[in-house]
Amino acid sequence: MDRRLLSTHRYRMKSAVAHFVDGRLFSPKFNDYYAARDPVAETAHVHIHPANLVARMSRANTFTIFEFGFGAGINLLATSTEFLKLAKPNVRLRFISCEAFPLQHDTLRQVHDNTAIDKSLSRRLLDFYPPLVSGIYRQLFANDRVELTLIFADIETALTEFVDQDSVGVDSWMLDGFAPARNPQMWDAKLIPILAQCTKANGTVTSFSSAGTVRRSLEDNGFSVQKIEGTPFKRHTLLATLNESRLQSTEPPRKVTIVGGGFAGTATAHAFARRGIQVQLMTPSGGVGDATSSIPTAVLHPRLSASMEEPAYFRTQTYFYAAALLSQYLQHATTGAVQISSKNMVAKRLKDIADTLGKNWARWLDAADCLELTNTEQGYESTFFPKSIVVNGIELCRSFVDHPRIEVVAKELFAPIDDELTIYATASTSVLGKTAEAWEVLTIEGQIDTFAHSNNNAIPRRVLIQDGYIVPTESACVVGSTYEYTQWKPGLATKTNLAKLQQVTSREHWTHLGKFRGLRTVTSDKLPIVGQIDRNQWVNLAHGSAGTASTPFCAEILASQVFGELAPAWQECLSIINPDRFSERQIRRPNPFLRHKR
Ligand SMILES: Cc1cc2nc3c(=O)[nH]c(=O)nc-3n(C[C@H](O)[C@H](O)[C@H](O)COP(=O)(O)OP(=O)(O)OC[C@H]3O[C@@H](n4cnc5c(N)ncnc54)[C@H](O)[C@@H]3O)c2cc1C
Repeated sequence: MDRRLLSTHRYRMKSAVAHFVDGRLFSPKFNDYYAARDPVAETAHVHIHPANLVARMSRANTFTIFEFGFGAGINLLATSTEFLKLAKPNVRLRFISCEAFPLQHDTLRQVHDNTAIDKSLSRRLLDFYPPLVSGIYRQLFANDRVELTLIFADIETALTEFVDQDSVGVDSWMLDGFAPARNPQMWDAKLIPILAQCTKANGTVTSFSSAGTVRRSLEDNGFSVQKIEGTPFKRHTLLATLNESRLQSTEPPRKVTIVGGGFAGTATAHAFARRGIQVQLMTPSGGVGDATSSIPTAVLHPRLSASMEEPAYFRTQTYFYAAALLSQYLQHATTGAVQISSKNMVAKRLKDIADTLGKNWARWLDAADCLELTNTEQGYESTFFPKSIVVNGIELCRSFVDHPRIEVVAKELFAPIDDELTIYATASTSVLGKTAEAWEVLTIEGQIDTFAHSNNNAIPRRVLIQDGYIVPTESACVVGSTYEYTQWKPGLATKTNLAKLQQVTSREHWTHLGKFRGLRTVTSDKLPIVGQIDRNQWVNLAHGSAGTASTPFCAEILASQVFGELAPAWQECLSIINPDRFSERQIRRPNPFLRHKR
């Protein structure tokens, strides 16, 4: 791993070196095979049967498995398949896994092609398999019943983060790294007390290794250990059961009130409803997608950066999560966007991004490739992001709240309310009064315009991003968007968007068809405000101009925090979106937005 970068949590990872020997994936580094010849049978024999997982999963409301060593994801797929066959539809499987040496996407695909696993689960995992950048990646499968949290980091970092954030705990541990003699870091005795600390009552540990050191350290930390007949895979495997849990879990909420029905409110409603909570969502009209999120054409596009500094890293994480989630809800939407190099995003930086993310997420295009893909007059050095999505705002909001546990009611709030649990997703801070006095927020108007052309050849074939976006429809282009920090003269926004369109397409003679105007609430650091503001009050707001990516991600963070679960983000990322951050800064300097307030 390249640890020269800024943080132990944010770095590019080296992929595992692995090749096939006689049809089985082999690691020269660990001098061992990844799995037995029949890996699905091995999962059943080593983990599922000894820990009685099927019966235990079907009795729980939420069942949590934590795996050491994700490898090709066979334990996830085999366990999920059993879970989906037998558990009740309202039971949730939380499958957390850690991998310090992730396999390349192509290798993973080859393993899946050659293994008898559920192909639809495999396809989804492959589609959104994270790039080789450290992080906590969350992906939902099978109507949200299976939740994978894949931590790309070494096991000590992953476990420490888990202990710090998660008070729900683990029902079953799968210790599945390479053998202790070959991979001592994963079996370090100092990890076992941490593992014991976050195991639930009657929680189990299963492993293909019954090495004496592992058994003794589990016994020393309160587990009863059994050797299990292991043939044909190993002579013995291991089952350990915790005698007494030290976990202090918090009571989950029973219901939640969410104020606001834009992307933020509806995504938050979805994140709570899928955890089994009754949601009441309030908007002034009783409908969702009633304000800025009624935008007819927005793009979930990667405001990515090759930088690993916190805000840039945070933005990339929002994109990976949202791309996977939105693909489930907007199955017929246009996908793929070409980001053209510009003064603000030079070609070298775009190429670095493509190299870092790998071709599943980003592909570098030279001018000729770009010309062929986009049909613009001129080719540009650019990067193609295949998972970007064109979003119809109302459609997205409606699909997020299409859930039996979500009720949308008509109510406008003028002051905070005192319910069991309330989340404000009102974009601006207007309802919050004094609580939000120090927050550095500003509301900015913006516009997108639609233009048609008599020559169909003038319409690019792909969504283009360059200091704004151009979205082609059958015979027109939607162009956005303006940032109107001051009051603009009538017509200036349309003129500005038209100039952008003419510049990128090198075409004149467009006919104006219509426009959409909306308000964005932005913060001084361009990050949203997400977190707890009082005992039973939380916020998810100020998503500025990137709400399609940041709102679902922050909704998931917020729901995880309320439930005491590991969020899909390092703690250092949670602190940069915390509502308290502004008052700390104002000890050093005044609120920079005071001069903009109209
Ligand atoms: C011109 C333009 C172009 C954009 N293009 C893109 C793009 O391409 N990609 C992208 O990712 N983002 C884009 N955005 C930004 C994106 O639209 C926003 O980030 C997103 O809509 C914000 O969602 P939200 O839920 O926070 O706010 P909103 O959609 O504004 O929702 C706020 C909700 O709170 C409710 N509410 C407010 N006050 C009260 C109250 N007192 N009581 C009850 N309810 C209340 C409102 O009725 C509404 O339901 C664009 C924005 C604009 C203006």
